[in-house]
Amino acid sequence: MTGPFPGGRRAAVSLTYDDCLACHRLAVAPALSARDMLGTFYCTANAGDLHDNVESWRAVAESGHEIGNHTCFHPCRRQEGRDWPDRAYDLNTYSRKRIVDEVHLADRVLRLVDGCERRSYAATCGQTSVGPLGAEESFVDDLRRFATVVRSGRGGIQPLRRPDFVLGSHGADGKDAATTIAAIEPLLDAGGWLLITMHGVGKGTHGLFVDEAEHTAILDWIAERSDRIWAGTVSGVAERLAALPA
Ligand SMILES: [Zn+2]
Repeated sequence: MTGPFPGGRRAAVSLTYDDCLACHRLAVAPALSARDMLGTFYCTANAGDLHDNVESWRAVAESGHEIGNHTCFHPCRRQEGRDWPDRAYDLNTYSRKRIVDEVHLADRVLRLVDGCERRSYAATCGQTSVGPLGAEESFVDDLRRFATVVRSGRGGIQPLRRPDFVLGSHGADGKDAATTIAAIEPLLDAGGWLLITMHGVGKGTHGLFVDEAEHTAILDWIAERSDRIWAGTVSGVAERLAALPA
């Protein structure tokens, strides 16, 4: 049976990397490209690495990878007793207008880098509401103006049908390759789509990271099965699924 992905493949994996790190453009994107794979890089529009290396990030996008929206200032719900994020970026005190304006501005900044008018959005800390808990207000519907789909929270394999707007993912930070491969492997028989979330690659790149050798092993495992699994961007896969008949 032929599938919706390039070459008639029935399985897709989207490797996603958060927080706009130097290792993403210097090591990860080239490693993906060398294997004919595409990834999605979720950038905060205030990322120093983005502004200091616009041409380098532009080259990442020109290679076919996606630069996804990850807000401007990475606001999250600040928890009791924690000192992060700064109180200025605490979603508990954000208004819906403020987060929507921030996501909009991030989209326009990223558009200056890659020229793309549509991109996916990764929820910061997986969160999609603002205001005090108990009286929180969702901004998911506002994201439809800016995002192809939204990655938020944990989740497994998505079936081969029109995609939900909000999708969970397998978190690979701190896990070995075997664990992540075990999450991908069922795609070979069942078909479908799995999103994978990572932050840094290699110690020292981010507080959350995948070990470099484990990351390479994951890429190699997928590449060896590239006749059956398509490593596509989040928006690329979502667009293919959205074109399926209802
Ligand atoms: Zn993040």
